[in-house]
Amino acid sequence: MYTYKEIWGNGRLLQHLQNAVNNGKTSHAYLFVGGAGAGKRMIAKTFAKHLLCTAPKEEPCGVCDSCRVFDSGNHPDVIHVTSEKKTLGVDEIRGQILETVDIKPYHYDKKVYIIHQAHTMTVQAQNALLKTLEEPPSYAVFLLLAENMDVFLPTVLSRTVTLKLNPIAEEEVSRYLTQKGAVPSEEAVFFAAYGQGRIGHALELIEDDTFRQMREEILTKMSRLPAMSLSDALLLAKEWEVYKNDYRFLDIIGLWYRDLLAAKSLRDEGFIIQKDKKDMIFQAASEPSESLAKKAAAVVKAKERFIQNGNFRLILEVMLMELKENRT
Ligand SMILES: [Zn+2]
Repeated sequence: MYTYKEIWGNGRLLQHLQNAVNNGKTSHAYLFVGGAGAGKRMIAKTFAKHLLCTAPKEEPCGVCDSCRVFDSGNHPDVIHVTSEKKTLGVDEIRGQILETVDIKPYHYDKKVYIIHQAHTMTVQAQNALLKTLEEPPSYAVFLLLAENMDVFLPTVLSRTVTLKLNPIAEEEVSRYLTQKGAVPSEEAVFFAAYGQGRIGHALELIEDDTFRQMREEILTKMSRLPAMSLSDALLLAKEWEVYKNDYRFLDIIGLWYRDLLAAKSLRDEGFIIQKDKKDMIFQAASEPSESLAKKAAAVVKAKERFIQNGNFRLILEVMLMELKENRT
């Protein structure tokens, strides 16, 4: 549990952390930046365990008191800073950090604060934390986990070592999902592609029944679309209003055309992302490639308009008309 070798991807970043501990040259504050489900928590926790290990080598030893307590999830010198609100405000920083930071570690050499959703910190909260970041007690280490870094004050950034997590290659994510038995291998490629190089994100989608149902529903309709009358097709714009706040349905439609194109042009299932739907896809891939490419572009355009907050029904109707065009 919580070793670097269990972590997939981001090898250089991990090496940096491992070297820092091994050489006794760790900083007082680190900012881990990466999308949701990219592995920030996993990496920060492993690093915290390593920092606290009483016999660290390349990895946390796993057998010392500190490592054992850490694995039980109740390490007294690891403090998780969280908020029940949408933002991390000054109250959370005061109550969870400032009021305890001067108290020496309970048992070990260091005291590690893991600040979750750090990108939701208000300016006041950052200012409240700043003084501690500028003059931290020798034992304190702050690990800030954030989805982006635009929100941070330059003064906060200048006090932290910023480490950006990279997405992992889709094949790697897919291999991970299959190896861990998260999904059958035909589905792994799809969830890996959809997870955008973030293992945690892919795992979340696998657990997300709403997403799975939406996907089934959309794909069934897409396979029937060519046989539908235009007026029936336009009714889908009304039906899909339930997805108004979830643009992922457009990604599913986009991926449908992407796979039809792959099936049509390459005639090789190796290039299909949604391998679990390959029969459906080969059956539907009867149109000329140019027509499929145009439709894929129509979906992309719809998504852009959707992000710009255009009229939902109108955007979908225009898209559906384009998807019904050019049949040969
Ligand atoms: Zn240890």
